[in-house]
Amino acid sequence: MLPVHQKQLKITDVSAKKLEKLNLHTPWDIALHLPLRYEDETHIMPIADAPAGTPCQVEGEVLHQEVQFKPRRQLIVQIADGSGSVLHLRFIHFYASHQKQMAVGKRIRAVGEIKRGFYGDEMIHPKIRDAENSGLAESLTPVYPTVNGLNQPTLRRIIQTALDTVPLHDTLPDELLGRLKLPHLAESLRLLHAPPPSYTIYQLSDGTLPAWQRLKFDELLAQQLSMRLARQKRVSGTAKALKGNGGLSDKLVRSLPFDLTRAQQRVLSEIRADLAQTHPMHRLLQGDVGSGKTIVAALSALTAIEAGYQVAVMAPTEILAEQHYIKFKQWFEPMGLAVAWLSGSQRKKEKEQNKAAVSDGLAPIAVGTHALFQEDVQFQNLGLVIVDEQHRFGVAQRLALKNKGQDVHQLMMSATPIPRTLAMSFFADLDVSVIDELPPNRTPIKTRLVNNARRAEVEGFMLNTCRKGQQAYWVCPLIEESETLQLQTATETLEALQTALPELSVGLVHGRMKAAEKAEIMAEFSAGRLNVLVATTVIEVGVDVPNASLMVIEHAERMGLAQLHQLRGRVGRGGAASHCVLLFAEPLSELAKARLKVIYEHTDGFEIARQDLNIRGPGEFLGARQSGVPMLRFANLEEDLHLLEKAREIAPQLIEQRPDIVDAHLDRWLSSREGYLGV
Ligand code: ADP
Ligand code: MG
Repeated sequence: MLPVHQKQLKITDVSAKKLEKLNLHTPWDIALHLPLRYEDETHIMPIADAPAGTPCQVEGEVLHQEVQFKPRRQLIVQIADGSGSVLHLRFIHFYASHQKQMAVGKRIRAVGEIKRGFYGDEMIHPKIRDAENSGLAESLTPVYPTVNGLNQPTLRRIIQTALDTVPLHDTLPDELLGRLKLPHLAESLRLLHAPPPSYTIYQLSDGTLPAWQRLKFDELLAQQLSMRLARQKRVSGTAKALKGNGGLSDKLVRSLPFDLTRAQQRVLSEIRADLAQTHPMHRLLQGDVGSGKTIVAALSALTAIEAGYQVAVMAPTEILAEQHYIKFKQWFEPMGLAVAWLSGSQRKKEKEQNKAAVSDGLAPIAVGTHALFQEDVQFQNLGLVIVDEQHRFGVAQRLALKNKGQDVHQLMMSATPIPRTLAMSFFADLDVSVIDELPPNRTPIKTRLVNNARRAEVEGFMLNTCRKGQQAYWVCPLIEESETLQLQTATETLEALQTALPELSVGLVHGRMKAAEKAEIMAEFSAGRLNVLVATTVIEVGVDVPNASLMVIEHAERMGLAQLHQLRGRVGRGGAASHCVLLFAEPLSELAKARLKVIYEHTDGFEIARQDLNIRGPGEFLGARQSGVPMLRFANLEEDLHLLEKAREIAPQLIEQRPDIVDAHLDRWLSSREGYLGV
């Protein structure tokens, strides 16, 4: 079936398919498909004056043409314009028609970037036009994001037709636009798609141009509106009010070898206030690594259990889930509360037993991986779901949870701090509690950057550390392309360390191991029977062995900032002075240098997250990489903070006073993109 817009816009089937690939489904989507950049074809540069590295247009006569076969088949065309220089045009993909178009003696125009190449000045795959039959462009030429098989002229034509087809009337009232000093949408779109001759590339690429500001504002407003509506929907939903009598939680608190920090107490009372409501809680518990989120989770769980409901605790990896299981068992079983365990790798019989304990209500709490929700696990009366490291779950798993948990309270936990701008823009439907204080007596961690060539010194340092009775982690490099290779490297590292340091007992834990084997090694390490734990990055989250005071990370330059921060947070949990050694191998990319500098200079997770956002944009925090959908196309959270603040202020007013505007606005901006929001 043809999409409705195909006939309207006179689009061929092939183009329609390509547009789908670009996620453009309606004429409005197409009208909102804005240029990535602009090319200047309004004038011609003399070849001798054309600057290298910036796009420009030149014109000249073809002096020579030949097909070369070395190093590969390519077409080389030389042109000159009398300015004194010869320009080489090089094509790696070409057809006979190109050779004809650029026959010797023809006058042609070429648009592209000049590079100083081996043969002199050259343009690779420039855009070619016949000089005799084409006039100069009157305004800058927009260049759009596209996919293979949909060329710029076709896309430009489709977009122009879309602009003529869709009603461009404004969704926002003039009064509001006046107050915000923003231009009309129609005007803005026309300007950006077909800039008048008076505009320069520089002006149009500047995000502060009013036309861009208008689009960014609209985008941010749409996002704020949809988040707020999601919130309203949740708040008007129903959930069981979970009011505990404090009996069980007081008992647990009394049994702990430490007092809760003030921050822990505060977030706990925020969570309890939410649980007592008759609509589902949707709260993120945020706290740096080691800030003590687990006990807060346990005490929240007890509130639900006191009220007579069950709790599910879910973690993204088996190791982490199992750590929680061990902790919860240790805390809960003495109070006569059974803890069920559900994981993907579990034996069938064991799984059946645990599932039964959950479904007949024998176990008030179940801990596990996403197996908790993917299998046919039936809770008798689920009241609260606790999700650790929520952002590490894939979108499908989060959706499964969302569907399962329509009317249950949800507590998410994360050590990856969400910077304020992100929290403001993407998590409007998430209440946030922050543990902003570490438990007392933590020793600061000293971080060192060490060239891999000096690895032997690091081994020596490790030996000394272990001789003092402390323990160490040695994290093997991440090898994304091959798990087998990663395993091989880890095994080699293990053997190398065993050979170099025969006096130490060294263990290995990696992702391919069976859950039971992993648990066994972890238990050995926890009990202090292993001095050193060699690990692939599986230990990244949640592992808690206070006697470990040294963390060595190999090829630290390959890891992301959040990951480095998490890994480093595995030490510094006991009384001993702790060290984190980041081994790196040269050459370092700019990105790697920037990251290592940040992790070296900062220990505060929030600051690291902020810098991370600067370095690589918000995608990672949001799991956008998994979903593949960019969250914001036009606005940039750091640069456009003022617009975000305005959108945040105006969204609730519009929802209150002008539901008609809200509908129209969301219809335009989100009609085909709804899927990614709110997961
Ligand atoms: P995270 O927030 O990274 O999940 P954990 O919950 O694993 O941190 O806690 C880290 C360590 O701190 C654990 O060993 C835990 O027992 C301990 N801990 C938690 N709260 C306190 C506290 N108030 N005082 C002292 N130690 C605490
Ligand atoms: Mg934790």
